[in-house]
Amino acid sequence: MPDPLQPDWLQIGAKHLWLPYAQMQTAPLPLPVVRSEGVRLHLADGTSLIDGIASWWTQAHGYNHPHIRDCVAAQLEKLPHVMLGGLANEPAMRLAARLAKMTPGDLDHIFFSESGSVSVEVAMKMAIQYWINRGKTGRTRFVSFRHGYHGDTMACMSVCDPDEGMHGHFKGYLPEQIVVDLPRDAAGEVAFDALFAARGHEIAGVILEPLVQGAGGMKFHDASVLRYLRQATDRHGHLLILDEIMTGFGRLGTMFAGEQAEIVPDIMTVSKALSGGTLPLAATIARRHVFDAFLSDRHETALMHGPTYMGNPLACAAANASLDLFEREPRLQQVAAIERQMRAELEPCRGLKGVVDVRVKGAIGVVELDRAGEGAWLRPHFLKRGVWIRPFGNIVYLAPPFVINEQDLHQLTSAITDVMALWSRERA
Ligand code: PLP
Repeated sequence: MPDPLQPDWLQIGAKHLWLPYAQMQTAPLPLPVVRSEGVRLHLADGTSLIDGIASWWTQAHGYNHPHIRDCVAAQLEKLPHVMLGGLANEPAMRLAARLAKMTPGDLDHIFFSESGSVSVEVAMKMAIQYWINRGKTGRTRFVSFRHGYHGDTMACMSVCDPDEGMHGHFKGYLPEQIVVDLPRDAAGEVAFDALFAARGHEIAGVILEPLVQGAGGMKFHDASVLRYLRQATDRHGHLLILDEIMTGFGRLGTMFAGEQAEIVPDIMTVSKALSGGTLPLAATIARRHVFDAFLSDRHETALMHGPTYMGNPLACAAANASLDLFEREPRLQQVAAIERQMRAELEPCRGLKGVVDVRVKGAIGVVELDRAGEGAWLRPHFLKRGVWIRPFGNIVYLAPPFVINEQDLHQLTSAITDVMALWSRERA
């Protein structure tokens, strides 16, 4: 019997739509969202949810921000798409110049793509070819870190955590990388230096998510780890790639997380909040010396990559509008306020049976459980409290839109403290 409260398109499409990260035999029907506004998702049955995770961390300014909507609509009238091979469009050109200006140091060269994973693929390809173009062969491996996550495509999977991550099946099929613990102390630094000394000739680059490793478990590290990695890669002559896809555009209280360590990576990847969460867009941003390694009078040294929709004018118009909002509105102060409120309001979860840690950095608040796989039990309890929170592994977390007000954020944090207390009594 069709559910009269559910739209017909949900039933029709559900037979055919293959969902992300889902066991399709048992996956529940996704919730039908018909409208969004600010921090709220409106469902087909007339109810609404506060989005506690900003649609996978994309919604810096909240949904349907009028300035982004107007800029995209105006662009749609003029030029929705044009290929970037041999043809230019104003939003992409303006955005490249703005990103070059706002990113640290001489991160001045912007290569657009349409998803975070592709921007990481491009970064890895860029790093390998950087060495080839400079006449050094054999530098084809990357150093990456346990609990790291960089996307789901082939090269990206190879630099994710091979054991804890979700891509374990592909071991043996993916290029083998050097996945190590983050050097968090003196012993870690000694081990890291030894690795460079022994295998430096194989290494194309070191890649990490700065300050917060996201999908690999919302693990935090200090700016000192980044500073050490910058010094070590400089000392040994290696490229440092910072994947700022989750951390970039204010999520940790600075426009880019690397700024907190005052370091400039050789290559940086950004996506997610780049377009203000409106359209798919990503960029791989290279320092001048990386870009220069591709210049010569021979075509073979060029970067042979070109996603069909790269520099899409609509997506770039959305990103330019998003940057306007970062300039005009107090986003970083809002992140600081979210951080303070989450620190205070998630604290009651600490000490609950089954909760092993509570931590907050910028606009990311985390409650870590002593076991994975509780999402199916937790989710309906969150929905009952009018919030969209999507636990993964043993992590329950918040990463709300930056424009969330105190009351709505309180609804999110109290949903977590209530549900975790219930979970602790009934399940832990
Ligand atoms: N890198 C990081 C740090 C991410 O958090 C993600 C996505 O969550 C990606 C890469 C992959 O981005 P996308 O899902 O847009 O391919």
